[in-house]
Amino acid sequence: MVKVLNVLLIEDSESDAELLLRALSREGFTPIHKRVETAPAMRAALADKKWDVILCDYNMPRFHPEAALGLLHESQIDIPFIILSGVVRAEDVVFLLKRGAHDFLNKDSLARLGPAIERELREAEVRRQRSIAEERIKILSLTIEQSPVSVAVANRNGDIIYVNPKFEDVSGYNLEEVQGRNLNFQRSDQVTDQMISSLWITISSGREWRGEFCNRRKNGQLFWEYVTIAPLKTDNGKISHFIIVKEDITVRRQYEERLLRQANYDDITNLPNRVLMQDRLSQSIVFAHRQSLSTALLYIDLDRFKNVNDVFGHAVGDILLRAAAERLSQCVHEGDTVARIGGDEFAVILPGVNSGRAAEKVAQRILDAFTLPFQINSQDIFVTASIGISLSPTDGDNQQILLRNADLAMDQAKEKGRNHYKFFTKEINEKVQERIGIENSLRGAVSRNELLLYYQPIIDVSTQKPVAIEALVRWRRPDGTILLPDQFIPIAEDAGLILSVGEWVLATACAQARELEAFVSPPLRIAVNVSPRQIRAGNFGDTVEHILEQTGLPPDRLELEITEGVLIDGTPECTHTLNKLCSLGVRLSIDDFGTGYSSLGYLQRYPFDTLKIDRSFICDVVENANSTRLVETIIAMAHNMDMSVIAEGVETVHQLNLIRDRACDFAQGYYISHPISFEKMLEFMKRALS
Ligand code: C2E
Ligand code: MG
Ligand code: MG
Repeated sequence: MVKVLNVLLIEDSESDAELLLRALSREGFTPIHKRVETAPAMRAALADKKWDVILCDYNMPRFHPEAALGLLHESQIDIPFIILSGVVRAEDVVFLLKRGAHDFLNKDSLARLGPAIERELREAEVRRQRSIAEERIKILSLTIEQSPVSVAVANRNGDIIYVNPKFEDVSGYNLEEVQGRNLNFQRSDQVTDQMISSLWITISSGREWRGEFCNRRKNGQLFWEYVTIAPLKTDNGKISHFIIVKEDITVRRQYEERLLRQANYDDITNLPNRVLMQDRLSQSIVFAHRQSLSTALLYIDLDRFKNVNDVFGHAVGDILLRAAAERLSQCVHEGDTVARIGGDEFAVILPGVNSGRAAEKVAQRILDAFTLPFQINSQDIFVTASIGISLSPTDGDNQQILLRNADLAMDQAKEKGRNHYKFFTKEINEKVQERIGIENSLRGAVSRNELLLYYQPIIDVSTQKPVAIEALVRWRRPDGTILLPDQFIPIAEDAGLILSVGEWVLATACAQARELEAFVSPPLRIAVNVSPRQIRAGNFGDTVEHILEQTGLPPDRLELEITEGVLIDGTPECTHTLNKLCSLGVRLSIDDFGTGYSSLGYLQRYPFDTLKIDRSFICDVVENANSTRLVETIIAMAHNMDMSVIAEGVETVHQLNLIRDRACDFAQGYYISHPISFEKMLEFMKRALS
């Protein structure tokens, strides 16, 4: 085997150098050499190349081994340095060995040269390895000392033997204070024994454990750490220590908790929001099902909460919501959920009930809780609740359906007159399905020409001659059935279809009123019902103006029937529309008078021409003295305010006679005529006016 040897020769004699090289070859080396004899030359050689060994002559006139050793030391390179000499004094040998020479050889007998070089090369390698290892340890310990995360080392029992400065910084404890303490010594109450024991099972079986801990700093403050604990093992695989690395994640945790809260809780009441409620509802449906139990859902809507906001402002509205949430929470047991799922809508989940009884009890408790007024800013505000109840699995086996059905039941409770609770029933479901069907086919009803108008004559009570007709809409469905307005107008209103339906009615009624002029004189007035939504839409005045222009109907022949509710509303749009209608010269009448709000201020605010007494007063006006008196009063009041009066729902001659005696101006009702088609109405008019 060829052993290449890079030799730096410090030698002034060329021939001695030759001898040396030959000796090296003899020992089996292939020397690659350079000979130097001065300090600058040696310095240059060291910088130039990596040498395996330096062989240095002892006796040189200009360059002494001591100087050469000094130079080598200075260059911080560890190369075996062997001195070749003749006879040397022992103290000189010792001196130079101390200076870093590795060996002395006799120049005249080079028998030891080979083995000496071999040995020095081996030792140099050992020294090199050791220094690499030392360097590594130095860096490792610096890494841990200056690590940006907390590091601790514990012995096999979990007793801490070291912590780094970051650990001291974060925890507030210094090394002396923690040495010998258990690695869990900082745990807060939030860390359970179960977590600790699972941690120990993991690490003592030699695996790594990771998790998030809520720990306590020395000053008592709680903070969150992401902790990794890993066993340190000896060469034979035995655990000798544990290393604990921890990162402070308090900021992240706080942020996450805030996000979680925002996503799941309502800001105003601090109750779970709809998202969290749906989640809990799903879980409790499944849970109850496994135990053959039901989950009850109460859908609670505060009655007329909008009024509170409108009258007292949103700040008061918010306070009331909080107070309502508080009352609701007091009506349920631990484990039940109260959530705020919309503006003034709440839900209560009763997980695992046997029957509707429990739900009924809670519902009653809630209604009772809302009988007392809310005292806000030293004002008593009364708000009642309407509650719909559904039960899993009968009324739905998933949260969506259960929620929808409770909501529908709540609508029924409201219809019953608010401050009620109502269970979801099959009938409600059927009604809803039917309603959905109606809504869908109503969408195209106008364009398919399915709407038609019936007319009901209105007569002058004293002459018994017709003076007006009221247009009443009907819907002939493709199957031939005719629906009455009560069956589809409310749906049209909810579905936003009332504007197009209303416009069609108005245009058709005005056009047919014009047609009528050829047959009936003096011309009849036409009364058209207007939905509150049309008035509130804001541009109804323009629609009326446009239709009058198109049909050429004189404005004073059109009478718009408006129910009381709209007037109370009093929004700017509503006022604007009524003023516009007045300026057009259209007549206005109050329909169904007596059934709405009893505030009469609005009668003075807007110039109404006619007041229609609701038929509920007329139907027993003959038998019931109270009704008689009421009708008398209404007529007197209306006349006092320059309004004429129409009695609706006159069904008998007695009723007609009675209202005539009480000076009622006009009458309308089955006694005179049912609502009839345009053609039948024409025949009626011909007969009546002949
Ligand atoms: P309304 O304006 O009070 O119309 C009178 C209603 O009473 C009509 O019912 C009519 O058929 C009924 N009626 C008339 N005389 C008698 C009677 O002697 N006895 C009884 N028991 N009932 C009588 P209809 O046609 O079913 O309309 C109901 C309601 O639907 C109307 O009440 C009106 O508020 C609304 N409506 C009708 N057409 C329209 C319309 O085109 N647009 C809007 N928005 N609502 C309409
Ligand atoms: Mg009417
Ligand atoms: Mg009416």
